[in-house]
Amino acid sequence: MTHKHQIVICGAGITGVSAAYYLAKAGAKDILLVDERAPLTLTSDRSTECYRNWWPDADLLGLMNRSIDLMEELADESGNVFRMNRRGYLYVTADENKIPELKERSSRTSQLGAGPLRVHSFDGSYQPAPAEGFRHQPLGADLLLGNELIRKHFPYLTGKAVAALHVRRAGWLSAQQMGMYLLETAKKFGVRFEAERVESVNISSGRVKGIKLSSGEQIECPIFVNAAGPYLKQVGQMLGLDLPVYTELHLKVAFKDALGVVGRDAPLLIWDDEQSLPWADDEREALVSDAETKWLTEPFPAGAHTRPEGAGESQTILMLWEYKTRAMEPVFPPPLDNQYPEIAMRGMSSMLPGLKNYFRKMPKPQLDGGYYTKTRENRLLAGPLPMEGAYVIGAVSGYGIMSACAAGELLAAHIIGKKLPSYADAFSLSRYDDPEYRKQLESWSESGQL
Ligand SMILES: Cc1cc2nc3c(=O)[nH]c(=O)nc-3n(C[C@H](O)[C@H](O)[C@H](O)COP(=O)(O)OP(=O)(O)OC[C@H]3O[C@@H](n4cnc5c(N)ncnc54)[C@H](O)[C@@H]3O)c2cc1C
Repeated sequence: MTHKHQIVICGAGITGVSAAYYLAKAGAKDILLVDERAPLTLTSDRSTECYRNWWPDADLLGLMNRSIDLMEELADESGNVFRMNRRGYLYVTADENKIPELKERSSRTSQLGAGPLRVHSFDGSYQPAPAEGFRHQPLGADLLLGNELIRKHFPYLTGKAVAALHVRRAGWLSAQQMGMYLLETAKKFGVRFEAERVESVNISSGRVKGIKLSSGEQIECPIFVNAAGPYLKQVGQMLGLDLPVYTELHLKVAFKDALGVVGRDAPLLIWDDEQSLPWADDEREALVSDAETKWLTEPFPAGAHTRPEGAGESQTILMLWEYKTRAMEPVFPPPLDNQYPEIAMRGMSSMLPGLKNYFRKMPKPQLDGGYYTKTRENRLLAGPLPMEGAYVIGAVSGYGIMSACAAGELLAAHIIGKKLPSYADAFSLSRYDDPEYRKQLESWSESGQL
């Protein structure tokens, strides 16, 4: 049987759903969203659900500022059904020597458009973030210097903390609820959803003609959007393209913090220092003597982070720490690392010493994970593919929730032919056609995941 649709979007994760919403909102008609799974259930319900506008890349920063504007609009119009807050991200260090570099890096990000940097050595002008709500909050970041000041506002942090950078246009929300709000509203605008697998794309004379579903059904469509998340590359192959993306496994663990170590009003707390895991002397000796466990006594990277999850009586905390980066083809369910909960707990205890009380008897962990789909330089893809009628939205790495609205809006502008924002070229696949850009990539350092 053959149907016809104007636009088919393959993938109902947060990027596909957002693309459908912004296309329909801009007046596009006859949109079909196809996913072999229930919407928002592959990667988009695995995230930490955080957002920030603090990026060292001016284009990503511009896109993120726009995305946060759009999320705030959605929160206002929906009565904040997805509980967007503005608690911020707090990057903490115990290393005095890092302070000049931290200041320098922060003022560079501030000048790119993230908002002003305020430095506080004593109490007075620092304005703490409320636990709920997102309006009427400062932009930019506050750099708190000195342990007394830091612990006055964040008493659960270590007595060794010497500087804490509080990024203010940042916080978290319920990604599932934001995604469902976008999907339900898109359906009201006329978007249809079909639970099916896209098996192939029919191309003729260099343009998209339609797709075939695994049921055998054929759909004629002049426009096809690849929003397949970790399967972006595979769906790209259906178009005869080799998209420059790869996938990385990322895990996350939830614990019940029955001792109340992490303040329930805390921002996202990030330990910005490298460290060695804390072990008792006898444990360390045993670990060092075994070649398989020796690595547990060696230096670990910066970036362990945690936040409280849930309202009311909830005692849940989430922890993430990419101490081992693992690029791999996506397999589901993702392979879990049983050592992860204990390593994350030990690592986080450098910043939150109260967690050491859990070393003897660890609370039961809930471990899960998913894949970051990435380009080499960690910039997403949203725009046309080199074939008439074909588009891509994806490679949204560890920032797919926070960027979804602006990426969806950008893709819709490409398809509908609306004026493009200044950052459009930075996220188009055609950026790789530029030899200068390819050359730059060789010396590109990653623009930060957190
Ligand atoms: C541990 C972890 C923590 C994270 N934390 C954050 C965070 O704090 N903030 C943030 O912004 N982001 C975060 N992210 C990243 C974010 O979750 C992802 O970037 C985002 O969910 C990706 O969305 P997507 O729509 O591209 O992919 P997905 O959600 O994976 O959706 C892709 C969809 O395509 C469908 N599909 C694929 N192939 C086909 C086919 N052939 N036919 C039909 N359907 C198909 C799949 O079934 C799937 O539903 C985190 C991710 C992880 C793993």
